[in-house]
Amino acid sequence: SDLMSQRPTRIVVDLDVLGGNLRAIRAHVGVPVMAIVKANAYGHGLVPVAHHLQAQGVEQLGVAFVEEGMALRRAGITVPILVLGGILGRQVAQLIQHDLEITVSSLDKLRKVEAAAERLGRKAVIHLKIDTGMERIGVHSYSCAPMIEAAVASQWCEIKGVYSHLACADDPASKMTAQQLERFLDACAHFERIGAPMPIRHLANSGGVLHYPETWLDMVRPGIMLYGVLPDPAAHRTVDVKPALSLISQVVYFKTVPAGHPVGYGATWAPERDTHIVTVPIGYGDGYPRALSNCGEVLIRGRRRPIVGRLCMDQFMVDLGPDGSAYVEDDVVLIGTQDGETISVEDVARRAGTIGYEILTRLNERVPREYR
Ligand code: PLP
Repeated sequence: SDLMSQRPTRIVVDLDVLGGNLRAIRAHVGVPVMAIVKANAYGHGLVPVAHHLQAQGVEQLGVAFVEEGMALRRAGITVPILVLGGILGRQVAQLIQHDLEITVSSLDKLRKVEAAAERLGRKAVIHLKIDTGMERIGVHSYSCAPMIEAAVASQWCEIKGVYSHLACADDPASKMTAQQLERFLDACAHFERIGAPMPIRHLANSGGVLHYPETWLDMVRPGIMLYGVLPDPAAHRTVDVKPALSLISQVVYFKTVPAGHPVGYGATWAPERDTHIVTVPIGYGDGYPRALSNCGEVLIRGRRRPIVGRLCMDQFMVDLGPDGSAYVEDDVVLIGTQDGETISVEDVARRAGTIGYEILTRLNERVPREYR
C-alpha cells in the first residue's frame, strides 16, 4: 500500500534470535531477568521487542526514562517495568499512575515519592539505588542506612528491589567489580541488621552476566547482550547469544569514475585507476556514523567493500574496484551476514571509533524496522 515504506534501507530484527538470547541468559544465570529495553530497545524497536520478551515470559523490563515506561504501558505491556534513571519530584505522579517502578536514589527522593503516593492514595513500588563506585545516581553504600530505614518505615512505599550498577564489569580482569560487590552486599546487610525483609538484589549488567557469577544475586539486568552484542570487544562470549539486528540497504546507482576524479564532499578521495563506484541510500541522517567516511566497510555480493569519500547525510559511495561489479537493487549489508561474510556491530563500532551501544542506539526512526 501507499503507507508501506518502499525505502530500500531497513533494519531487520530477528525476534526468534532475541527470544533465544533471553533463554540462553536465563539458563546461564538461573535467576530472573530484567531485560533492559531503554533507548528504543538499543535501536531494535521498543514496543515490538517488549511484546516479544513479554510473550517469552520475561520477569521484568527496565527503561531509562518515565516516557519509555509510559509508551510500553500504552502499548499494552503488563509486566513490571523499572525506570532506572534519576527522577525529579514532578515526575513521580506519572510513574505511580502508570504502574511504573521507581528508582529511589536518596532520602530526599524517597520523601518526594511518599508525598506523591499519599496524594494519589496509591502505594509506590520502589527499588533503592546504592552507589558502589559509579558516582552516577544512588546514595553511597557507606551512608545508605537512613534511606533504607526510612523506606522500610514508609507507609506509602513498597520496597521491591535494591540495586547498584557496575562500572567495569565489561573488563574480565578489573578489580573494581569485586569491590563494588562487597560494598553492595554490605549495604544490603542493613536490611538484616534492622530485621527487615530482603528485597530483590540486582547488580549484574551484561558484563556481570558474562564474567562475574557472584554478581548475579536475585536478578540480572542484561542490555546489550540480549541483542547479541558484547559490551566490549575484549569481553568473553561465555553465553551463546547471537546478533538479532541486521542493517540492509540496496545499491541505488552504479557508475564508472575515471582515475583522479574525486568522490564526495571535500574531494577527500579519488581512484588511482578508473573504478566502479556504487551509491548506497543511507547516511548520518539515519544514525549511520559519518566517522565511517573513508574507513567503513559494507558487504555487496558477499565481498567486503570500502566506503570511499565522506559519508553524506542520506547516502555514501562504495568502491568496487576496476573489476568489481554490482547491479542497482543489489543488497548492501551494513550490519549482518551475506554469503557467509559478516560485519558485526562491534566491527562497525571499532571503525567508527565508538562502542556497539552507540552504533545501535543512534539508528533512528527514519530507518524502517522489520520483524521476522
Ligand atoms: N542496568 C542499568 C542501571 C543500566 O544503566 C544499564 C545500561 O547501561 C544496564 C543495566 C544494562 O547494561 P548493558 O547493556 O551493559 O548490559
